[in-house]
Amino acid sequence: MNKIKENIQKVNAQIEKACCTVPDYHPHENQSSPNNRQNPVTLLAVSKTKPASAVEQAYLAGQLNFGENYLQEAIEKINTLSHLSDISWHFIGPIQSNKTKQIAQHFNWVHSVDRAKIAQRLNDHLSEQAQQNNGQDTSLNICLQVNISEETSKSGIMASEVFSLAKMVDNCDNLTLRGLMAIPAKNSANDSYEKMQHLFKELQAQYPTVDTLSMGMSNDLDIAIHHGATMVRVGTAIFGKRA
Ligand SMILES: *Cc1c(COP(=O)(O)O)cnc(C)c1O
Repeated sequence: MNKIKENIQKVNAQIEKACCTVPDYHPHENQSSPNNRQNPVTLLAVSKTKPASAVEQAYLAGQLNFGENYLQEAIEKINTLSHLSDISWHFIGPIQSNKTKQIAQHFNWVHSVDRAKIAQRLNDHLSEQAQQNNGQDTSLNICLQVNISEETSKSGIMASEVFSLAKMVDNCDNLTLRGLMAIPAKNSANDSYEKMQHLFKELQAQYPTVDTLSMGMSNDLDIAIHHGATMVRVGTAIFGKRA
């Protein structure tokens, strides 16, 4: 078995185990119908800096969601792998406003929306694309990035800004508000994770489309899942160290 496939299986097993520590998750209740048993946490494989061949290996191991940070590199891979049409591509890096058109064209999800201007531009580009494609559905899934540990080095909105930006995104015809994304500070105690869990629940109570808390990476996926993460973004533990 190749290393990437082996790593994906390990990470999936780790996710499943972590899910058992979530209070309202009871996997054994569904034991009589194993096909209905759904893992509530989606694994997003972060393939930044890794070649298209590595993505393809992960795909062949059953992985369908991939995260990328760097636009040009990502577009090359997306074009190279366009025959794998059931892959979902997630943009998870900081967004410059002059890149929104290409992001809207190539991605299914954006996790790193952190200002109204970016949301507006994504929505406008999607309207243009829809007109060119005879009104074909071009909806883009959006998570708002929250700088939950209030680090100057990180992008994202403050917790207090979540609800106004959420309202704006929800009003955009071509955007679907799916939830929140965060990168809690290294060694932040449970604090940042708890705050995110709380914000996510509040947002979910207001918007029926909200189902995604994107939180947790190779080194913190257990604590993130314990605090309600529904999507973990894992690079190193799948593809190995980045150069
Ligand atoms: C690189 C990156 C990841 C993956 O990090 P690992 O520690 O390699 O698992 C997850 N999320 C974001 C936003 C990233 O930039």
